Amino acid sequence: MQIESLLVHGAVDGDVNTGAVNVPIYQTSTYKQEGLGNYKYEYSRTGNPTREALEKTIGALEGGYNGLAFASGMAALTAVLSLFKAGDRIILPDNLYGGTFRVVDKVFTRFDLRYTIVEPDDTEALKKELEKGDVVAVFIETPTNPLMDITDLEEVSSIAKNYGALVVVDNTFMSPYLQRPIEHGADIVVHSATKYIGGHSNTVAGLVVPKTRELWDRLQFIQNSTGGVLGPFDSFLLLTGLKTLAVRMDRHNENAKAVFDYLQKEPAVSKIYYTGDPLSKGYEVHNKQASGYGGMISFVVAEGYDHKVFVESLKLITLGESLGGVESLICHPATMTHAAIPAEIREKVGIVDTLLRLSVGIEKAEDLIEDLSMAFRKAKK
Ligand SMILES: *Cc1c(COP(=O)(O)O)cnc(C)c1O
Repeated sequence: MQIESLLVHGAVDGDVNTGAVNVPIYQTSTYKQEGLGNYKYEYSRTGNPTREALEKTIGALEGGYNGLAFASGMAALTAVLSLFKAGDRIILPDNLYGGTFRVVDKVFTRFDLRYTIVEPDDTEALKKELEKGDVVAVFIETPTNPLMDITDLEEVSSIAKNYGALVVVDNTFMSPYLQRPIEHGADIVVHSATKYIGGHSNTVAGLVVPKTRELWDRLQFIQNSTGGVLGPFDSFLLLTGLKTLAVRMDRHNENAKAVFDYLQKEPAVSKIYYTGDPLSKGYEVHNKQASGYGGMISFVVAEGYDHKVFVESLKLITLGESLGGVESLICHPATMTHAAIPAEIREKVGIVDTLLRLSVGIEKAEDLIEDLSMAFRKAKK
């Protein structure tokens, strides 16, 4: 079955008891047991049919063994980080989601999980770190948030495998419709399903898909033990969101390309970060491993324009955190999503004060361009 059809029907298609075309919201904490040890489900932290339908669906979409659903992307990442123990070391890219850096830097280091930052495309530096022997996992975002750096999934996975390190890919920006990292050698895929998978900015959720049963069993044990599970209603919202993922992503792709073409000609913009830019460093590698460029564009506001006045002048595009919803959102990484990253690291990698990150929605592209153009004219100093 092609992915468009799998998205609409899911791994559990409707309800066997009633014929309802949607999986029902099993809003229950517990279940009647037929006898001692004789039951289908025992308790909703451990298992819930609505959540399970979502977990099986994301597992099938990513081509992994099975999925696991969590109360947020951070809860999902926390479960993955809980696979490791004191003294282990992980590799992080130099620009990544601020919350991922924060949970490692401020929470897991207290349990003596160590980390080293390596530039996403520096395979020589990566090999050097792996040779030290204590690295248990390499974390990848491709494209990275917010600078759209691309990592060659096949190359890094084959290097990591030689040293017995797991490859964990945060696939939030692409979604399984555009990129399936397990097909390229990754061991675990993580999503902030709050973004494209939910797609409507109406729920916070996280998903994990490991490649093997062995990893799924360990992660499921962690999910049940630590308890950061996704509720039945939120699971239902994600199942609903997934049905339109393909058409939404097609429109995000189209609109972002139109906005990129406009921004290239816009004198108020001095630099653009977009995976679909044929002149960008990672363009060829991205084309090899993904089937589209997604809806994310970051750009630097040129000298002579006030970035604060610009974002405050936008009418259709909303200033706010998050991304991947049907509506366009713009954010200021330095003070919003990436504030947890120390200023000197931010400046060094390019998350400058005048950088903005735009999540291009599925509105009419002309309306978005008109809004951007209007706000730039107001922002001229
Ligand atoms: C938003 C986001 C997260 C965190 O997910 P939450 O659902 O907000 O907890 C992790 N990674 C990326 C790339 C994100 O954009």
